Amino acid sequence: MQSLVFDNVFTRTLPVDPQSGSKRRQIRNALFSRVEPTPVSAPYLIHSSPHAAKLLGLSEADRTSENFLQVFAGNLQLPGMDAHATCYGGHQFGNWAGQLGDGRAINLGEVKTPKGHLMLQLKGAGETPYSRTADGLAVLRSSLREYVCSEAMFHLGVPTTRALSLIGTGEQVMRDMLYDGHPALEPGAVVCRVSSSFVRIGHFQMIAARQETDLLQTFTNFVIEHEFSAVAAAHKDPTERYLAWFEEVCQRTATLMVHWMRVGFVHGVMNTDNLSILGETIDYGPYGWLEGFDPDWTPNTTDAGQRRYRFGQQPAVAQWNLLQLANALYPLIQETEPLEKILGNYATAYEQKWQKMMANKLGLSTYDAVLTNRLLKLLTETETDMTLFFRHLADVRDPITDSVFLQDAYYAPEQIDLALRQQTERWLADYLQTAERQNQSHGARARLMNSTNPLYVPRNYIAQLAIDDAQQGDFKKLEQWMQVLERPYTWQEGMDQYAAKRPEWARNRTGCSQLSCSS
Ligand code: AMP
Ligand code: MG
Repeated sequence: MQSLVFDNVFTRTLPVDPQSGSKRRQIRNALFSRVEPTPVSAPYLIHSSPHAAKLLGLSEADRTSENFLQVFAGNLQLPGMDAHATCYGGHQFGNWAGQLGDGRAINLGEVKTPKGHLMLQLKGAGETPYSRTADGLAVLRSSLREYVCSEAMFHLGVPTTRALSLIGTGEQVMRDMLYDGHPALEPGAVVCRVSSSFVRIGHFQMIAARQETDLLQTFTNFVIEHEFSAVAAAHKDPTERYLAWFEEVCQRTATLMVHWMRVGFVHGVMNTDNLSILGETIDYGPYGWLEGFDPDWTPNTTDAGQRRYRFGQQPAVAQWNLLQLANALYPLIQETEPLEKILGNYATAYEQKWQKMMANKLGLSTYDAVLTNRLLKLLTETETDMTLFFRHLADVRDPITDSVFLQDAYYAPEQIDLALRQQTERWLADYLQTAERQNQSHGARARLMNSTNPLYVPRNYIAQLAIDDAQQGDFKKLEQWMQVLERPYTWQEGMDQYAAKRPEWARNRTGCSQLSCSS
């Protein structure tokens, strides 16, 4: 652990709340409050990521050391750390919620690495000034879900915050899992997250809402210089720089949305406080992975009525969130037109990137709108596992004899009638002809598809099985699953259970297809 060198540019440069500690308060003219993690009684290591550790220059010996356990449980601080929680606001489900802030995330410090700085952040390490009425803690089930998905996302090639460690605290935490008046004790846990920055859209919104324009300028300049050095280097004029940066944030967000649509990820709570300014997936809560392809699906029971954050709506919600960022930045720019233009570019960029991605998913060199739209409709005709469908499609070479390969993707194959079978075969015939017309050989098509369409995604029901075991102190399944998820595009012998579609018992089991925000 001695290899960790801290250089806390964020806390050194930006204004701090003069008060420290976790007493709840509204702050003014400051970005963060100093607050220490709450020590825990009996920490135990559940898992740590060798890949995230490597980013930080931590060795195998470090990862298994007592120091590692104590530091990332929140019991011990290393020299050079500067623990703090940051202040932000946000729109929750479309409504301005005022000050939120890191209610259970404590930044430990920024580590200097050869590839740049990385902030270490504990999630679930106790109260902060921003905990509002809650306890600042996290339970094992939600922490395991965040830990697994962060690392799985990375291996899938999707921008994300990383996860270094999953540590049980040895303490019990009270949660009403379904918000139905049945609170129960659950094992507590802490995840150490890693990212260059945990700044969200909500940070800018909060400062703008308080009309602290000087601070807005200082903070925006800081974020651009510290996190977007290419933008800073390319633009000296302040207004041009702000606009170029906003454009970059929009482009990154468009890219992120295309990735989510590619792999079938539903974030579940795309509030503006849960959107990273870096374009990374952040704050894994009641997220889910599409099983049956359904643009209207959301795993979040808290959003079941409105379904604001359903799968197919995510790109539009991201644009709405970026509009809120534009509103926050307005005082720095004083003109709406350039901001509106950039927001319009977001839509165009998203569409272009999405088309390219869909062409790749189908193994085509050029996007075909009619063919793609016919398929997206076909996938909703009968419950069809999105992940398995695209994987098996890569093996289809003949529309009639090979359509059997797709059987495994259907949740109710017995319900597929003659009309649907013929419709599928007609689509397959047209699809294979299109590939041929585009000079895509079967081999080239399959290679492109199998590097675009993952085989192993962190399916909700598998997470639940890993949680069931982990709650009994058995981490073997988690360990094996984490290894499989390191190579999501490569079939791995003996690991078919991690690619299998949702079994019937999981259809309505809590934690498998339905999750609340309680975590
Ligand atoms: P989320 O919906 O999880 O993004 O959280 C919204 C706000 O509530 C943020 O300020 C969180 O830090 C805070 N929060 C969520 N869960 C807790 C908790 N258990 N204790 C304290 N604050 C929390
Ligand atoms: Mg959040």
